[in-house]
Amino acid sequence: MSNTVVRGLGAILSGGAEFITFEEGKPMTMLFIDWFEDLLGIREHYESGLTPKYIRCPGKDICPLCKANPSKYPALRIKFRVYDPIEKRVKFVSLAKSHVQKLNQEFNLDECDPTKNFVTLYRTGKGASDTAYSARRYVKNPEAGKPVLEFPTQELIDQMPDITTQVTPHSPDEIAGFMQALVAGAQTQPNVYNHAPQGVKPAYEQQGVPATQRKLPF
Ligand SMILES: [Zn+2]
Repeated sequence: MSNTVVRGLGAILSGGAEFITFEEGKPMTMLFIDWFEDLLGIREHYESGLTPKYIRCPGKDICPLCKANPSKYPALRIKFRVYDPIEKRVKFVSLAKSHVQKLNQEFNLDECDPTKNFVTLYRTGKGASDTAYSARRYVKNPEAGKPVLEFPTQELIDQMPDITTQVTPHSPDEIAGFMQALVAGAQTQPNVYNHAPQGVKPAYEQQGVPATQRKLPF
Protein backbone atom coordinates (compact mmCIF):
# COMPACT_ATOMS: atom_id res chain seq x y z
CA MET A 1 0.00 0.00 0.00
CA SER A 2 1.25 3.48 -0.82
CA ASN A 3 2.53 5.67 1.96
CA THR A 4 -0.01 8.33 1.05
CA VAL A 5 -3.01 6.04 1.56
CA VAL A 6 -4.55 5.86 5.00
CA ARG A 7 -6.81 2.94 5.82
CA GLY A 8 -9.07 2.48 8.84
CA LEU A 9 -10.78 4.85 11.22
CA GLY A 10 -8.13 4.43 13.91
CA ALA A 11 -5.37 5.31 11.46
CA ILE A 12 -7.24 8.33 10.14
CA LEU A 13 -7.95 9.66 13.62
CA SER A 14 -4.32 9.15 14.58
CA GLY A 15 -3.08 11.15 11.61
CA GLY A 16 -2.25 8.23 9.35
CA ALA A 17 0.11 6.52 11.75
CA GLU A 18 0.15 2.79 12.24
CA PHE A 19 1.00 1.81 15.80
CA ILE A 20 2.48 -1.60 16.56
CA THR A 21 0.53 -3.68 19.04
CA PHE A 22 2.96 -6.01 20.77
CA GLU A 23 1.60 -9.35 21.86
CA GLU A 24 2.96 -11.98 24.18
CA GLY A 25 4.59 -14.79 22.21
CA LYS A 26 4.84 -12.71 19.03
CA PRO A 27 8.30 -11.11 18.91
CA MET A 28 8.77 -8.34 16.36
CA THR A 29 11.97 -7.37 14.63
CA MET A 30 12.57 -3.74 13.70
CA LEU A 31 15.05 -0.95 13.25
CA PHE A 32 14.54 2.04 15.52
CA ILE A 33 14.38 5.42 13.82
CA ASP A 34 13.85 7.80 16.75
CA TRP A 35 15.86 6.95 19.83
CA PHE A 36 18.23 8.63 22.28
CA GLU A 37 17.64 12.41 22.17
CA ASP A 38 15.03 12.06 19.40
CA LEU A 39 12.52 10.42 21.76
CA LEU A 40 9.33 12.36 22.40
CA GLY A 41 6.67 11.84 25.00
CA ILE A 42 3.19 13.07 25.83
CA ARG A 43 0.60 12.42 28.53
CA GLU A 44 -2.28 10.30 27.31
CA HIS A 45 -5.64 9.13 28.57
CA TYR A 46 -6.72 5.62 27.73
CA GLU A 47 -10.51 5.31 27.41
CA SER A 48 -11.59 2.02 25.87
CA GLY A 49 -15.06 3.38 25.03
CA LEU A 50 -13.81 6.28 22.94
CA THR A 51 -12.62 6.46 19.35
CA PRO A 52 -9.71 7.02 19.36
CA LYS A 53 -8.98 5.13 22.59
CA TYR A 54 -5.83 7.11 23.33
CA ILE A 55 -6.44 10.80 23.94
CA ARG A 56 -3.46 13.13 24.10
CA CYS A 57 -4.07 15.41 27.06
CA PRO A 58 -3.90 19.16 26.47
CA GLY A 59 -3.36 19.78 30.20
CA LYS A 60 -5.62 19.28 33.18
CA ASP A 61 -6.79 22.89 33.28
CA ILE A 62 -8.50 22.66 29.91
CA CYS A 63 -8.89 18.91 29.24
CA PRO A 64 -12.53 17.69 29.29
CA LEU A 65 -11.42 14.14 30.22
CA CYS A 66 -9.38 15.38 33.19
CA LYS A 67 -12.44 17.37 34.27
CA ALA A 68 -14.75 14.36 33.88
CA ASN A 69 -12.39 12.02 35.78
CA PRO A 70 -10.06 14.04 38.01
CA SER A 71 -8.77 10.84 39.65
CA LYS A 72 -7.62 9.32 36.35
CA TYR A 73 -4.30 10.92 35.68
CA PRO A 74 -3.06 10.61 32.08
CA ALA A 75 0.05 8.45 31.69
CA LEU A 76 3.28 9.58 30.06
CA ARG A 77 3.81 7.67 26.83
CA ILE A 78 6.96 7.74 24.76
CA LYS A 79 6.50 7.74 20.98
CA PHE A 80 8.97 6.73 18.35
CA ARG A 81 9.13 5.48 14.81
CA VAL A 82 10.53 2.13 13.77
CA TYR A 83 11.10 0.39 10.45
CA ASP A 84 9.37 -2.96 9.97
CA PRO A 85 11.65 -4.86 7.53
CA ILE A 86 9.05 -7.56 6.83
CA GLU A 87 6.30 -5.18 5.70
CA LYS A 88 8.90 -2.62 4.59
CA ARG A 89 7.02 0.20 6.29
CA VAL A 90 7.66 2.80 8.94
CA LYS A 91 5.40 2.32 11.98
CA PHE A 92 4.97 3.91 15.37
CA VAL A 93 5.55 2.58 18.85
CA SER A 94 4.07 4.00 22.04
CA LEU A 95 5.47 2.76 25.35
CA ALA A 96 5.53 3.78 29.00
CA LYS A 97 8.70 5.53 30.11
CA SER A 98 9.70 2.62 32.37
CA HIS A 99 9.57 0.23 29.41
CA VAL A 100 11.70 2.56 27.30
CA GLN A 101 14.25 2.75 30.12
CA LYS A 102 14.40 -1.04 30.37
CA LEU A 103 14.92 -1.41 26.62
CA ASN A 104 17.66 1.18 26.69
CA GLN A 105 19.37 -0.68 29.54
CA GLU A 106 19.31 -3.90 27.54
CA PHE A 107 20.68 -2.23 24.42
CA ASN A 108 23.50 -0.79 26.52
CA LEU A 109 24.33 -4.18 28.06
CA ASP A 110 24.21 -5.72 24.61
CA GLU A 111 26.31 -2.82 23.22
CA CYS A 112 23.64 -2.54 20.55
CA ASP A 113 22.53 0.67 18.87
CA PRO A 114 18.94 -0.06 17.79
CA THR A 115 19.12 2.66 15.15
CA LYS A 116 22.03 0.83 13.46
CA ASN A 117 21.14 -2.82 14.15
CA PHE A 118 17.88 -4.67 13.78
CA VAL A 119 16.50 -5.67 17.16
CA THR A 120 13.76 -8.07 18.24
CA LEU A 121 11.28 -6.94 20.87
CA TYR A 122 9.53 -9.43 23.12
CA ARG A 123 6.51 -8.73 25.27
CA THR A 124 5.55 -10.82 28.28
CA GLY A 125 2.28 -10.30 30.14
CA LYS A 126 -1.05 -9.01 28.94
CA GLY A 127 -2.22 -6.31 31.34
CA ALA A 128 -0.79 -2.92 32.26
CA SER A 129 0.61 -4.23 35.55
CA ASP A 130 2.27 -7.48 34.42
CA THR A 131 3.60 -6.37 31.04
CA ALA A 132 7.33 -6.33 30.48
CA TYR A 133 9.39 -5.81 27.36
CA SER A 134 12.81 -7.05 26.49
CA ALA A 135 14.94 -6.68 23.40
CA ARG A 136 17.74 -8.60 21.73
CA ARG A 137 20.01 -7.80 18.86
CA TYR A 138 18.77 -9.55 15.70
CA VAL A 139 21.32 -12.05 14.45
CA LYS A 140 20.74 -13.33 10.94
CA ASN A 141 20.66 -17.09 10.51
CA PRO A 142 18.85 -17.98 7.28
CA GLU A 143 18.92 -21.73 8.03
CA ALA A 144 17.05 -21.07 11.26
CA GLY A 145 14.44 -18.89 9.58
CA LYS A 146 16.17 -15.58 10.38
CA PRO A 147 16.81 -14.04 6.98
CA VAL A 148 19.14 -11.21 6.07
CA LEU A 149 17.09 -8.04 6.62
CA GLU A 150 17.36 -5.00 4.43
CA PHE A 151 17.61 -1.45 5.70
CA PRO A 152 14.98 1.09 4.59
CA THR A 153 15.55 2.71 1.22
CA GLN A 154 16.30 6.41 0.98
CA GLU A 155 12.89 6.87 -0.68
CA LEU A 156 11.18 5.42 2.37
CA ILE A 157 13.25 7.59 4.71
CA ASP A 158 12.29 10.67 2.66
CA GLN A 159 8.57 9.79 2.85
CA MET A 160 8.61 8.95 6.53
CA PRO A 161 5.37 9.81 8.41
CA ASP A 162 5.74 12.82 10.69
CA ILE A 163 5.91 12.16 14.40
CA THR A 164 4.82 15.68 15.40
CA THR A 165 1.13 14.78 15.10
CA GLN A 166 1.64 11.95 17.60
CA VAL A 167 2.96 14.25 20.29
CA THR A 168 0.56 17.16 19.70
CA PRO A 169 -2.25 17.24 22.28
CA HIS A 170 -5.82 16.88 21.11
CA SER A 171 -7.70 20.15 21.51
CA PRO A 172 -10.42 20.44 24.18
CA ASP A 173 -12.99 20.72 21.36
CA GLU A 174 -11.74 17.54 19.70
CA ILE A 175 -11.90 15.67 23.01
CA ALA A 176 -15.40 16.99 23.72
CA GLY A 177 -16.33 15.69 20.26
CA PHE A 178 -14.97 12.18 21.01
CA MET A 179 -16.93 12.15 24.28
CA GLN A 180 -20.06 13.41 22.57
CA ALA A 181 -19.76 10.67 19.94
CA LEU A 182 -19.72 8.06 22.71
CA VAL A 183 -22.80 9.55 24.35
CA ALA A 184 -24.58 9.71 20.99
CA GLY A 185 -23.61 6.09 20.26
CA ALA A 186 -24.84 4.97 23.67
CA GLN A 187 -28.32 6.28 22.89
CA THR A 188 -28.69 3.68 20.15
CA GLN A 189 -27.23 0.84 22.26
CA PRO A 190 -29.44 0.35 25.33
CA ASN A 191 -27.18 -2.46 26.62
CA VAL A 192 -24.52 0.07 27.46
CA TYR A 193 -26.62 1.19 30.43
CA ASN A 194 -26.38 -2.23 32.03
CA HIS A 195 -22.66 -1.72 32.45
CA ALA A 196 -22.82 1.84 33.73
CA PRO A 197 -21.61 2.18 37.30
CA GLN A 198 -24.20 3.25 39.85
CA GLY A 199 -24.63 6.95 40.23
CA VAL A 200 -23.94 7.74 36.59
CA LYS A 201 -27.04 8.88 34.80
CA PRO A 202 -27.69 7.16 31.50
CA ALA A 203 -26.90 9.28 28.47
CA TYR A 204 -30.57 9.98 27.70
CA GLU A 205 -31.02 11.61 31.10
CA GLN A 206 -28.02 13.81 30.51
CA GLN A 207 -29.47 15.54 27.47
CA GLY A 208 -29.34 19.28 27.77
CA VAL A 209 -26.15 19.03 29.82
CA PRO A 210 -23.18 20.51 27.92
CA ALA A 211 -21.14 17.69 26.34
CA THR A 212 -18.09 18.36 28.46
CA GLN A 213 -20.08 18.05 31.71
CA ARG A 214 -21.79 14.79 30.97
CA LYS A 215 -20.57 11.85 32.97
CA LEU A 216 -19.17 8.89 31.09
CA PRO A 217 -20.09 5.29 31.93
CA PHE A 218 -16.52 4.29 32.88
ZN1 LIG B 1 -6.48 15.26 30.32
